[in-house]
Amino acid sequence: MPIDFAATKAQFHLPEGVIYLDGNSLGPMVRGVAARVEKAVTAEWGELLIRGWNRAGWMAQPRVLGDRIGRLIGAEPGSVVLGDTLSIKVYQALASALEMNPKRRVILSDTGNFPSDLYMAEGLCRTLGGQYRLKTVAPEEAMAAIDETVAVVMLTEVDYRTGRRHNMADITRRAHEMGAITVWDLAHSAGALPVNLSGVKADFGVGCTYKYLNSGPGGPAFIYVAPRHAEAARPALSGWLGHEAPFAFDLSYRPGQGVERMRVGTPPVLQMAALEAALDVWDGVDLGEVHAQSLRLQDQFIKGVEARAPMLQLATPRSHLMRGSQVSFRHPEGYAIMQALIAEGVIGDFRAPDILRFGFTPLYIDEDDVARAVSILARIMDYGTWDRPEFKQRAAVT
Ligand SMILES: *Cc1c(COP(=O)(O)O)cnc(C)c1O
Repeated sequence: MPIDFAATKAQFHLPEGVIYLDGNSLGPMVRGVAARVEKAVTAEWGELLIRGWNRAGWMAQPRVLGDRIGRLIGAEPGSVVLGDTLSIKVYQALASALEMNPKRRVILSDTGNFPSDLYMAEGLCRTLGGQYRLKTVAPEEAMAAIDETVAVVMLTEVDYRTGRRHNMADITRRAHEMGAITVWDLAHSAGALPVNLSGVKADFGVGCTYKYLNSGPGGPAFIYVAPRHAEAARPALSGWLGHEAPFAFDLSYRPGQGVERMRVGTPPVLQMAALEAALDVWDGVDLGEVHAQSLRLQDQFIKGVEARAPMLQLATPRSHLMRGSQVSFRHPEGYAIMQALIAEGVIGDFRAPDILRFGFTPLYIDEDDVARAVSILARIMDYGTWDRPEFKQRAAVT
């Protein structure tokens, strides 16, 4: 059945007068979340106290919700678990992958990757005593740079800045031909486009839930370990909840079953309750259809902006095959322009040095929203209303 986008939109709380084009950074609140969190606070924590771990299913939640996310990313049942932040999950996946390819010393990534992923890799190389090296190349050169020296190919499928999308199937195949292991970051893929981790034979996958999956600020991250690696992958962050028997309180570590070993410590129960309710909007939703509709909205936006605000330069590839769910434009005054837009209720964001970023999330953004956003942007550019001191004052979060 085709998705009824008006019905999905009605499931989101969107503030009056706001056109929200930043679901790629922080998804909006799904209406059912407030009641679910309230229940977790009052009925579960409040009444059950410590008994909530068993009776309210808190302990099983990271795997139960992992399976629900698994469906959205083509993961086998039991291969995804939630917890911690994405940066931590990147570190874990990378450390395990390196250990599984012990003769090689190079981590290959690209210059479009999110800085935290690169920082985590640098930190891990240092911890491992400096024999390891992070090599970054331009995104379009990543495929060709995979050679017999590469231990791990660590890439983010969709570039957070430009929206450029890698070909995950081809890169994974090439990596395997060259004897490398893949770590795919799905931060801008999960909930945005169809991902088929098992189909492309990906080795590790990681991602966050507070972007397209709408779990709220600080929501837990997820990690995928291909079932064929699950018993070989050794967790670098060997916390008690990844132990085979946490409540045996053994003095030494034995990894838990499969992906459970990638759990570290106590899960964020309240955030997980929010995620649980947020995931309800995905029931019966086909990601192929979501992405196709996102591309239509993106095309509408690109066409409108190029016609009415030609001083903005498209930074996102035109090819549908190379796009995720966001469109970016460059302008030297991008920061001020974005602040002027936000002041008029069109919320996107800015990424240094000159990128204006707009996310197109069809579950709650429609053609009217896009048309209005284009008109407001065109007016701001025509009248130069961005050129005011208050729009040039940089806040901590851009
Ligand atoms: C959003 C994002 C992150 C953020 O990591 P956190 O640890 O959740 O703050 C990391 N990597 C990528 C690719 C991202 O898009």
